[in-house]
Amino acid sequence: MKNLKKKIIENLNGSLSEEETALLEKAFDFAEQSHSEQKRQSGEPYINHPLRVALTISQMKLGINAIIAGILHDVVEDCNVPISKIRTEFNEEVAFLVNGLTKVNKIQYKGQKEDNIAEKENYRNMILAMAKDLRIIIIKLADRLDNMKTLWSLDPKVQTKKALETLEILAPLAYRLGMTDIGSQLEDLAFPYVFPEEYKLTRKILGKRREEQKEYINKLAPLTRRKLQENNIEPKEIKFRTKHLYSVWRKLQKEEMDIRRIYDLVAMRIIVTSVEECYATLGIIHQMWKPVPGRFKDYIALPKPNGYQSLHTTVFAENGRIVEIQIRTSQMDEEAEWGIAAHWIYSSFKKTDSYKKKKGFSPPKNFYWINQLRQWQKTFYKSEEFLNALKVDFFKNRIFVLTPKGDIIDLPDGATPIDFAYQIHTDIGNQATRALVNGKLVSLDYKLQSGEVVEIITKKGKRPSSSWLEFVKMNETRKRIQDALKGKNFI
Ligand code: MN
Repeated sequence: MKNLKKKIIENLNGSLSEEETALLEKAFDFAEQSHSEQKRQSGEPYINHPLRVALTISQMKLGINAIIAGILHDVVEDCNVPISKIRTEFNEEVAFLVNGLTKVNKIQYKGQKEDNIAEKENYRNMILAMAKDLRIIIIKLADRLDNMKTLWSLDPKVQTKKALETLEILAPLAYRLGMTDIGSQLEDLAFPYVFPEEYKLTRKILGKRREEQKEYINKLAPLTRRKLQENNIEPKEIKFRTKHLYSVWRKLQKEEMDIRRIYDLVAMRIIVTSVEECYATLGIIHQMWKPVPGRFKDYIALPKPNGYQSLHTTVFAENGRIVEIQIRTSQMDEEAEWGIAAHWIYSSFKKTDSYKKKKGFSPPKNFYWINQLRQWQKTFYKSEEFLNALKVDFFKNRIFVLTPKGDIIDLPDGATPIDFAYQIHTDIGNQATRALVNGKLVSLDYKLQSGEVVEIITKKGKRPSSSWLEFVKMNETRKRIQDALKGKNFI
């Protein structure tokens, strides 16, 4: 535990003021006292968990309040510390972050029997909508990362549930935020619980291939560097990208389970200074080693829809072994990491096209801020501007509420229980008499909030009231009420 604290402080690298250091120490003590008697299912002292979460957050330069929120993230839920106490002992922002996380954690993912892409997307959006601040999502991801590492200690039913949520909801969220490292870690931790047979099979098929390929490419690197230097190109870096296990599994499915058809288990990545050097490097590589026909891609001249740029080629290298080589500038390399977020959004929304038409859902337009954010994170993370950028109204105009069964319904902001009822079914709308929100009776013109569970009580044969027209939010609802009222006149 002492060690964890030390590492957190080390990560902050002397960037804290005296006041902030005092606050951090206070958070350590506060969490320690709150969790003092508690143990994790794994048998270790509870405090280790929030400290590990805080350690992950401390690597991201999100400021002191995010780290303190990480340290305190479980005291409200697990130690019954009121949020007001956190506000008075620490500050408004820490209280806001811890409170936000507590809210987000209340959402129960029911898991999908069928592959319902739109439903999963809605669930992710609901988390974003409720979070209101990117730091809350990041704490959530760091929390889950640590929980996944000790998942073995939990009940098998809980294991499957948590792992499924991790794989289907949280890992994609991490990718969306450009946190590829956490995303792939989460996927690989969840993989054996969600698909145990497939996991074993993938490991068996993979064998030692990744290690071998890495060793092999390791030997190619100095050779490549020398050849480039002979041609007056000084590569900034030659590195590797290893495909993580879950990604190997996905690719295997596309390649008819033939591991020999996956050429990028380990790819060589050459970073150079300019676009001209990218093409020159490609020419030199192709002179050294014959390209595999049909596998060259020029994403510099023709970037991917998300803006991703790089040259990809696959060659028969020394001893005829097949190797994927990616060539790009440093700038492209950095942007590729952010671009993954954009790419994810692009591909997922393409898949839900039909859903969009059906429900009038439109993808968020302002995701460019994620790129902006990463840029800022590097340059001036302490400034006001950066912290404000983290407070984002992800879905200004949409809310996401749940049916008692856990289905997510997305509605415009300001929607009422009556709008909700008509989205479920016209009959439910027409026959609505009362509404319960999180189990409590509310008026029919109540303004619903993201994350609320809404239940409509109906009475057979009841007709809608014309007074509803005055408060319902959606035109669609209004029209259905009017239709029903007209019908009434005919009777
Ligand atoms: Mn936790």
